Amino acid sequence: MKAVYVDDAYKVVVKEVEVPVIAANEVLIQVKVAGICGSDIHTYKGLHPFRKPPVIIGHEVAGEVVAVGAEVTRFQIGDRVTVEPQTGCGRCEACLTGNVNYCGSRGAPGINGWYGTMAEYFAAPEQTVFKLPEGMTYEQGVLVEPFAVGVHAVRKARIGVGDKVAVLGAGPIGLLAMAAAKAAGATTLFVSDVMDYALETAENMGATHTMNIMNKESWTAEAKSLVGGEFDKVLIAAGVPGIIDQSLQLLRRGGRTVTIAMFHGTQTFDIHNLQNQEKEIVGCMTYTREDTISAIDLIAAGAVKEDAIISHRLTYEQAAEGFRLVDKKEDRSMKVLVTF
Ligand SMILES: [Zn+2]
Ligand SMILES: [Zn+2]
Repeated sequence: MKAVYVDDAYKVVVKEVEVPVIAANEVLIQVKVAGICGSDIHTYKGLHPFRKPPVIIGHEVAGEVVAVGAEVTRFQIGDRVTVEPQTGCGRCEACLTGNVNYCGSRGAPGINGWYGTMAEYFAAPEQTVFKLPEGMTYEQGVLVEPFAVGVHAVRKARIGVGDKVAVLGAGPIGLLAMAAAKAAGATTLFVSDVMDYALETAENMGATHTMNIMNKESWTAEAKSLVGGEFDKVLIAAGVPGIIDQSLQLLRRGGRTVTIAMFHGTQTFDIHNLQNQEKEIVGCMTYTREDTISAIDLIAAGAVKEDAIISHRLTYEQAAEGFRLVDKKEDRSMKVLVTF
C-alpha cells in the first residue's frame, strides 16, 4: 500500500509498505480521508515530544471497514467509521476511570509500531473505532478527532450557558474548540490570532468578536472592552511565549484557563494575577471516549461548519504540499485533508 511518511524534518514522501496484518481484536480500515493536524506539523518540524521521523504520519481518519479480526464483534465489512486514535493499558487507575488520555502507557498512531492514518489502510483496535451515523460524510467523520479535542477542552474549562469565552489562536484546533464552546452554550466567543484569514474563518464559524493581535503590545484590555467585561474562560490554542499571562489578564476572578496548545520550553507568568484572584490554569490532553461520542453527536447535529474550516482537499501524492501549506499558513490553509 501507499503510505505518507515524514521521513526526516521537513521531508514528506510517499512510500510503498505492506498492508498491516490485523490482530484478532483489530479492524482494518480502507482510508478515505486523513487530516493534517497541528501536532503532525510538530512532527514534520522534528519537534514533537514523542512522535519522531521516520514515521507514517497522521492520526485523523475516516474510512470503510474492509476486514475484521476474529474477536471483533461490533463492526463488519462495509461499515463507515472513524477512530479515536489512542489506547491505554486498560489496567491502571486512569484507564479504569475512563481517562485513557493520561494513562502512563498511552499508545497512539506513529509510536510503538502503530502505523499512522495517512496510508491506504489503517489498522485499529476495535475499542478505538466508531461508526459514522447515517448521513455523516467522511469529511465530517475526519473532523471527529480534532473536534473531540475541543469538546474535551470545553469540558475541562467547564464552559456553560452564557459564558464569555476567549479562544487564543485561530488554527483548526482553536476554531473547533470555539465551535464546541458555542455548542456548550457560550454566548460571547472572542478569537484572537495574527492572521486575518484565520479570523475571517472564525467569524464564518460563529465567533462573535475577533482581534488581530499582530504587533500589539497590550491587547488584553482592548479585548475586554470589546466584549464589555472580563472573560469567564480562556482556551489557549497557540503555544507562544507570554500567552499564559495574557490569558490571566483576560479572566475574571475565579476564571479558568485551559491550555490546549503544545508548548516548547518553559513558560513564565505573573503568579500574583492567579493566586489572590483564585484563577485556575488547567492542562488538557487529547480526549476521552465520552468526548469522542459527544463530538460525533454534535457534528451530526451541525455544530461544526465543515465547509468553513476545510480549506484544502489534496490527494495523498500531494501530501508534501499539504504539510508545506499548513506549516507556512499559505493559501488561507486551515484544515487540510488528504484523500486516498
Ligand atoms: Zn488531530
Ligand atoms: Zn492505563
